[in-house]
Formats: sequence, structure tokens, C-alpha cells
Amino acid sequence: MCGETIERTFEEMKIRIRDVVSGGIRLEYVVKPDEIGLTGEDFIEPENSIKVIADLQKVDNFVLGKLVVTFLCENHCARCLERLSHEVTTKYEVDLEILDGDEWLDLGAKVREEMLVEYLPRTLCREDCKGICPDCGADLNTEPCECNKGSK
Ligand SMILES: [Zn+2]
Ligand SMILES: [Zn+2]
Repeated sequence: MCGETIERTFEEMKIRIRDVVSGGIRLEYVVKPDEIGLTGEDFIEPENSIKVIADLQKVDNFVLGKLVVTFLCENHCARCLERLSHEVTTKYEVDLEILDGDEWLDLGAKVREEMLVEYLPRTLCREDCKGICPDCGADLNTEPCECNKGSK
């Protein structure tokens, strides 16, 4: 009694609210970015797929969801400009209030929102990226630079 898996209805990731039951359902999708409204975002290439696993449960007049989103993240580090391409898996929790008359739940829009919040501001190759020296242009992660050694 731990939930049923239902087939996705169509590629836009809209699901019927009445299909979400209190016992929970699991939905799995593989979509292209433009299918959930991501066009021209620089953190994902248009041809790369996004995998979404959604566990949804109806509790009173809310749909509670746990989303696991996996995709190949493309980026340039804001400090050193290194091109970054790495698979990321992120977990999100969402709760969506069901209002009177709501019939469909646009899960794709929710995934898009979460991805935009998550990936736009985060453009460092790593938290402690040293960046590029403004004076000599050296990538300080990989090469030493003489500019800041003047006080010796
Ligand atoms: Zn960097
Ligand atoms: Zn320098």
C-alpha cells in the first residue's frame, strides 16, 4: 500500500489533480528543456534531457511533492570563466495548494521555477574558486601569479 505509479499523460508534465491520491504516486519524466519552458538558459543545452522523478501525495487540499531532477548542467564559472559541464541531481520539495476548480497541476512549470532559482545565481566552478587575477589574467586556480607577492 505504498502508492501506485501512473503513466504520464503527455509531455508537458501536466497532471490531473484527481490522479494524485493520498497514498501517493510516482511519476517519471524525461523531457527536453523547451518542453518545460526553458529556452535560451545558459545552464542547459537545448538537446540535453532533464530527468524528473516526482513523488506526489495529496494531503487535505495540498499536493505535496518530492522532486528529483537530474540533468547535465552547463556553465561558465563567474570568477575564472572555466567551462563547467557536469551532471547534477537536485532534490526539491514543493507544496501546492489546490484551489476550487483546479483540475490540472503544471509540474513542468514548477520544475522550471526551481531550476531557475537554483542554477542562475550559482555560477562558480567551486565555492573557493580563486578566479582570474585582474592584473595579469592568470587563472589563480591553476597557476601562481606574482602580482600579490609584492609585500615580501
Ligand atoms: Zn572558477
Ligand atoms: Zn596576477
